[in-house]
Amino acid sequence: MILKNSFTKYVLIICIFLQSYESSFAQEGDQILDGIGETDLIARYVFDGDLKDWSRNNLHASTYSENVEFEADERFGKVLSMTGKKGENLILPSEILSNVESLSISAWVYLRSDKSGQYLLDFSTNGKSYFAAYPVGVEGDSNFKINIEDHKGNSKSISGDSVPLNKWVHLVFVYDIPSKAFKTYVDSKLIKETPELKNELLRIFSSENLKNLTISLGGSATPEAESLDALLHDVRFYRVPLANRQVASIYFNAFRDVNQNIAHSKKVEDDLPDYPEDEAKLYNVFLSNVEDIKVETEVGSLPRLPSHVKGSYVDDLNGPLVRVIWPAPKDNELVSKVGLYTVKGKVPGTDFEPVATVSVKAKTNSSPPQQKLELFKLHQINLEEDQTGQKTKFIENRDKFLLTLAETDPNSFLYMFRHAFDQPQPENAVPLGVWDSQETKLRGHATGHYLTAIAQAYASTGYDEVLQQNFLDKMDYMVNVLYDLSKLSGNKVNGKGNEDPVLVPKGPGKSDFDSDLSDEGIRSDYWNWGKGYISAYPPDQFIMLEKGATYGGQKNQIWAPYYTLHKILAGLIDIYKVSGNEKALEIAKGMGEWVYTRLDALPQETLIKMWNTYIAGEFGGMNETMATLYEITQDPRFLKGAQLFDNIQMFFGDAEYSHGLAKNVDTFRGLHANQHIPQVVGSLEMYRVSAKDEYFRVADNYWFKAVNDYMYSIGGVAGARNPANAECFIAEPATLYENGFSSGGQNETCATYNMLKLTGNLFLFEQRGELMDYFERGLYNHILASVAEDSPANTYHVPLRPGSIKHFGNAKMTGFTCCNGTSIESNTKLQQSIYYKSIEENAVYVNLFIPSTLDWEERNIKIKQATSFPKEDKTQLLVEGEGEFVLHLRVPSWARKGYHVSINGKEIQLDVKPGSYIAISRFWEDGDKVDLRMPFDFYLDPVMDQPNIASLFYGPILLAAQESDARKEWRKISFDKKDIGKSIKGNPAELTFTIDGVEFKPFYDTYGRHSVYLDVSLN
Ligand SMILES: [Zn+2]
Repeated sequence: MILKNSFTKYVLIICIFLQSYESSFAQEGDQILDGIGETDLIARYVFDGDLKDWSRNNLHASTYSENVEFEADERFGKVLSMTGKKGENLILPSEILSNVESLSISAWVYLRSDKSGQYLLDFSTNGKSYFAAYPVGVEGDSNFKINIEDHKGNSKSISGDSVPLNKWVHLVFVYDIPSKAFKTYVDSKLIKETPELKNELLRIFSSENLKNLTISLGGSATPEAESLDALLHDVRFYRVPLANRQVASIYFNAFRDVNQNIAHSKKVEDDLPDYPEDEAKLYNVFLSNVEDIKVETEVGSLPRLPSHVKGSYVDDLNGPLVRVIWPAPKDNELVSKVGLYTVKGKVPGTDFEPVATVSVKAKTNSSPPQQKLELFKLHQINLEEDQTGQKTKFIENRDKFLLTLAETDPNSFLYMFRHAFDQPQPENAVPLGVWDSQETKLRGHATGHYLTAIAQAYASTGYDEVLQQNFLDKMDYMVNVLYDLSKLSGNKVNGKGNEDPVLVPKGPGKSDFDSDLSDEGIRSDYWNWGKGYISAYPPDQFIMLEKGATYGGQKNQIWAPYYTLHKILAGLIDIYKVSGNEKALEIAKGMGEWVYTRLDALPQETLIKMWNTYIAGEFGGMNETMATLYEITQDPRFLKGAQLFDNIQMFFGDAEYSHGLAKNVDTFRGLHANQHIPQVVGSLEMYRVSAKDEYFRVADNYWFKAVNDYMYSIGGVAGARNPANAECFIAEPATLYENGFSSGGQNETCATYNMLKLTGNLFLFEQRGELMDYFERGLYNHILASVAEDSPANTYHVPLRPGSIKHFGNAKMTGFTCCNGTSIESNTKLQQSIYYKSIEENAVYVNLFIPSTLDWEERNIKIKQATSFPKEDKTQLLVEGEGEFVLHLRVPSWARKGYHVSINGKEIQLDVKPGSYIAISRFWEDGDKVDLRMPFDFYLDPVMDQPNIASLFYGPILLAAQESDARKEWRKISFDKKDIGKSIKGNPAELTFTIDGVEFKPFYDTYGRHSVYLDVSLN
């Protein structure tokens, strides 16, 4: 690429301009840009000297020709110059259109010619254009024109006044699929709205249209087509339909500096239907009374108020418990002394204000529960076919992942490590893409997930020797290479180098630490990096974080170095645990010491600041990993190191430890969900190894709040709309409708992966039914539902707006986002939580009803679970071997129509409460059979602050309405208030149902458009 040096005369102007320009880029890569959440941005080409995508997605542009020209511009600094020569268009990666629902395109264009037929943009497949934008018309017509045509010939032409010449114009095209409209903006004004697009044209971004896709900017794939004669600046692609205000923000912010950015100042325009606040909905319509409650707490700790209380209904209606929304204080003032106080709650849409009388007692010495249970090893639980000889969804998904993992080349996952250490690549080694691309500052994260995945795959494939050997070989190879690289760090070369992690110098010839990973910019003086250092990039990002670097794409910015490191260390420890590979442990210990040494040298204020820096300070579960290293090695430096990762603000409120989650104050509202959930997982691990009570309370209080006040029906907990970042928790608890349902999608899948991990771990301490109720919900309705039909491609967000569709990525495991990373972990351990055992080996817990065999080696007992659940409402446990133990059987909260247990054909009478466990203690004999039956029931799961918006469940299974097209309105459904099942027809053995002619299927079996939430009324 040759940069045409045509801007000498503007040098002075550029220098002056760059200053303000730099500052306006300070937010580059940040979560919110021009009031639009980062997850909505697909790609952004600033074109200030290169063709790079400035978003985190690495969708860099390229060109067929060698000459790319940039020139100085008074308004925007350096801009791209397109000369109008035929065939000189830019090529954008076709991934821009994969997984899009709606599409918005924003571009600054300075047209220099009115030559007809110039393309601004062209999407074509096999030489046939299906979306073309001509700013000054085509075929003699000087009007601005857009032609859309699908692969079946359905077409639409949109035109308007031609775009003015010789001035900068801001053009925005919005393909708004739910509204079935195409909108065109010029300089922030909506100049054309084309409504009621045909359904065919709304499916334009479907996969059949995208085969062999070429995206051309400033020209077309056809060589004889006219190219653009214009300057271009800041071209962006969004996966959401931008709202008017967002378009205006992009336009006006181009004239402002970053301090005037309106990111957080106002709510974004909201296109979810609004309902009057005083209109009772769903069961609340029939409420006649809501009971007051009494709760107790200890001085200092906010009370745990129940999310649901008893209510009575008119006409003897047997309605559900009533959802109450309680105030959520931000500190613990209210409970500063012994005494009584009252709190008033709200019941949405009604005047009911139930009162909670809180009795604040003196501090007691009660301690949290001790760990009673532990996990079976993965090889001890095996998934089996169902009663009809069919593979279950669990087996299907497991196999998609295992077989694809087996095909992967470890050298791809080692590529950036070798690159960082300036080592040769083996022949044919291919780097990973997406977030492990060369210049992505998160590179190496997929490698960490991969280490865990192959460890779990190895442990889980005892049933297939060849497959198991494959994973063993992969583990050994990965560890050997990483071990050798780690030994290079801080190892003197010709007597020169630095062993001390604290004394890592700046890169050779550099004036400061930087995150430059380009071939020209990356440092490779590994002898200076301190002993034990391992990562897929040099140590600068860790050091820059200490000095206050923020998240972003510039060389002075970083992307979560400790997050990536957590994956790598956790993966190494997992390999050590399943295979005893000592080298794996040694690498982890070496880097653990490196981390401890650096962090221990920092003042607490610096640590607090680091861990509260958005994304940059995201550290995954470093506290968990350091605690585990301590448990394995008993080296106290690792325990202290783990503690240095305490998120003091969230856990303890402030540096004085005055409140925080440890005292049941909700300190996580509005925060990035997946940044913080693993920290809570780590807190529980800290409790396990240190026995400090407050760590348990952090985890336990967090869980209760997350599940009650932040959860969508599939079990996801992230998806804020206001402010507009779908990866965050909603800004205030229990406002999912008001602040959630982000238009770009919600329910980041890796957040649910981490919620399940936390939930399973909490259960080891306290065997509460609600924990496994949540686990089952998240497992079936999110994790199982997050995988594509015929490949291991999987979801990032799982969108739950009306008529949404899931988007799956990474089918071939060649380019990973965070969620692609956790999915290779989730799907190699699907069997893990079906059974738990007591540490004392005298009890087994049956948590989930999945066909499987448990090999309780320690007791020489097998338990075979035979069932077609959830396609039937019963299961059978067959005991092989004999001995005395307690069998704990889960009674799901949804089992309200009965729970029947028989042993060897004889029904036993038990006091059974939904949402608990029953215990059967006896001397079990070989061949003993336990039959469980728990009739399913239909019920609704409403959104807490807008109860008419509700999901339909059948037993544990979320049923989704199958939609043919995108829609803007929630699907309206009306049920009989006394028995909602009355209006539902269908086949429980297949879990397919119809309501008013609309088909419903399990969400985990839904691959087309769906409505998971419905607008429900009762009559
Ligand atoms: Zn994720």
